[in-house]
Amino acid sequence: MSQRMQGQPMIILGDDAQRMKDKSAQEHNIAAARAVAESVRSTLGPKGMDKMLVNSLGDIVVTNDGVTILDEMDIDNPTAEMIVEVAQTQEDEAGDGTTSAVAIAGELLKNAEDLLEQDVHPTAIIKGFSQAAEQARDEVDDIAIEIDRDDDETLRQVAQTAMTGKGAEQHKDQLSELIVDAAQAVTVDADDGSTIVDLAFLKIETQTGDTAEASELLNGAVISKDPVHENMPTDLEDASFLVTDTPLELKETEADAQVNVTDPSQLQTFLDQEEAELRELVDTIVDVGADVVVCQKGIDDMVQHYLAKEGILALRRVKRSDIEFLREILGADIASDLDNVTEEFLGHGSISRDEDEELFYVEGSNEDAHGVTLLLRGSTEHVVDELERGVQDALDVVGTAISTGEVLPGGGAPEIEVARRLREYADGVSGREQLAVEAFADALEVVPRVLAENAGYDSIDTLVDLRAAHSDGQTNAGLNVHSGNIEDTFEAGIVETPHAKRQALVSAGEAANLVLKIDDIISAGDLSTEGEDEPGDDMGGMGGMGGGMGGMM
Ligand code: ADP
Ligand code: MG
Repeated sequence: MSQRMQGQPMIILGDDAQRMKDKSAQEHNIAAARAVAESVRSTLGPKGMDKMLVNSLGDIVVTNDGVTILDEMDIDNPTAEMIVEVAQTQEDEAGDGTTSAVAIAGELLKNAEDLLEQDVHPTAIIKGFSQAAEQARDEVDDIAIEIDRDDDETLRQVAQTAMTGKGAEQHKDQLSELIVDAAQAVTVDADDGSTIVDLAFLKIETQTGDTAEASELLNGAVISKDPVHENMPTDLEDASFLVTDTPLELKETEADAQVNVTDPSQLQTFLDQEEAELRELVDTIVDVGADVVVCQKGIDDMVQHYLAKEGILALRRVKRSDIEFLREILGADIASDLDNVTEEFLGHGSISRDEDEELFYVEGSNEDAHGVTLLLRGSTEHVVDELERGVQDALDVVGTAISTGEVLPGGGAPEIEVARRLREYADGVSGREQLAVEAFADALEVVPRVLAENAGYDSIDTLVDLRAAHSDGQTNAGLNVHSGNIEDTFEAGIVETPHAKRQALVSAGEAANLVLKIDDIISAGDLSTEGEDEPGDDMGGMGGMGGGMGGMM
C-alpha cells in the first residue's frame, strides 16, 4: 500500500452534498445530454418543426413555438451544457449544421449507453469514438465533389440548402442569387494560389419597412446616419475621407483642474481659448485635405459649425463595424490621434445621399477595395433579423464552398456513405474499440433517419433503401424530402459543404467523449430527480418551473 493511500484523492463532502459514481454517474449524465439532443431533433431538415439557433452571446433562440422547449431547458446543467456547446462550436466554425451536430452527439451517447450496459469500458468507447471520428473525417474528404468557384448554379444550391427551414427560405431564389454574387464579389486570389473569400469586405445591413424582395447588393458601404449639420454637402465624388475613432471635442481637462472665474473678462478669455482649440482641430482636418469626416464618437457643436462652413461633410457616432468596413473599402487608416494625422491616413472614394432612406452610400475608388453591402429588407425588425440569420449561415457555407472548391450531396447521403465505410474500417479494428467504431457508424445514420421521420416517411424503410443504394455504389444517394425519393441529392440540388460535415463529426465526437469521461459527480446540491419535491423548497411548484432539465441534476 502506498503512502498516498492508493492514490485516492480525499474528498470532503458537506452535509447536503451528494455523490454519484461510475455507472450511475454516467447514466445520469447521458440522460441529461440526450434530453437536450432529443429536444432539437424534431427541427432537423426542411420539414423540421421548430428551429434552434445559437446567437453570438451563446444564447439559444428557438423560433416559432419551440421557445417552450428552451424555457424548459436548464442550461446550467453541466452535461447538458456540453451538448449546447457542440451547437455553439458548430455555429462559430461552420455557420451551419448545428442541429445535425447535436443530433449526432445525442445518438453517440445513446449508443455508448448500450455498450456500457454490455460492460464495455468507457475508455474503450472513448478510444473507438476518437478513431472513428478521425476516419470519418477522411472519408468526408474522400467523397467531396469538386466544383468551380464560378459554378453559380451549384453555389446557389448550397445557399438554398443552408437556408432550409429558416425564415429566409421563403425568398430563397432571390436571396441565394444575392448571396452568391456577394461572396464572389469579395473573392480574391491569394499570392500563394489559394482562393480567399474575404468576408471583411462584405457587410450585411438590415432595413425595415420594405419587403424581402427589395433586398439588394450594393457596391461599397451603407451608413444609416444623417449629416451632423444641415449645411453640409451630401454628395461628393473623388472625395478624401478622414476616418477617426476619437471624439472631435475638447480634450478632457485634467481631473483636478479648476477654473476660477472672478470677472466676466476672464470668462470670455476662457471661452475664447476653448473656441481656439476647437478651431485648431478643424484647421487640422482642413489642412490634411479631408472632404468627409467619419467619426465613431461625438462631434462638438462648434466643430460641426466650422466643418459646415468649410464645406466638409461630417458623420458622428458611426458604429465601430462601419468604421472598420470603411477603412477596408476606402483604404483609410483609422486616425486615433488627430494631432499627428497626415494625408496618409485619408481614404478615397465617393459618397451619396439617399434622402428617403436616410442613408449614405459610400464607394471606394481603390481597385483593391472590392467591398459590398448586402442590404436586407423586411417588413419588421423580427422579419429582417430572421432573414439575416439565414443569410449569414448561407454566406458562411457559400464562402467555404468557394474557397475550398468542394461540396457534398445532402439529404443524409454523406452520413450513410461514411457509416458504410466506417463499418468496413471497423473490421480492421481490434478489441472492444471495434464495437465503438460500429456504434459511431450507426449514430451517423440518425441524420437521414430523422430527416425521414420529420417529413413523415417511414424511417426504417428509408434507411434500408439508402443502405442498399450505397452498397450498390451510389455514393450520392440521399433522401429528397420534397419528392420522397431516394436519389442523387447533388443532382437534385440539395448541396452541403464538407467543412460543416467534418466539423459536426468532430464536435459531436468530442462532446460525447467528454460526457463519457466523467465517472464521478460531486454536487453540493441535491441529485434527486424532482426539484419540486425538495424539502424546504418554499417556492413550492415554482421550483420546477426554472427548468425541466434542472430536475435531472
Ligand atoms: P442543421 O442545423 O444541421 O443545418 P437543418 O435543419 O438545416 O439542420 O437541416 C439540414 C439537413 O437537411 C441536412 O442534412 C441537409 O442535407 C438536409 N436537407 C436540406 N434540404 C433537403 C431536402 N430537400 N431533402 C432532404 N434533406 C434536405
Ligand atoms: Mg442548416
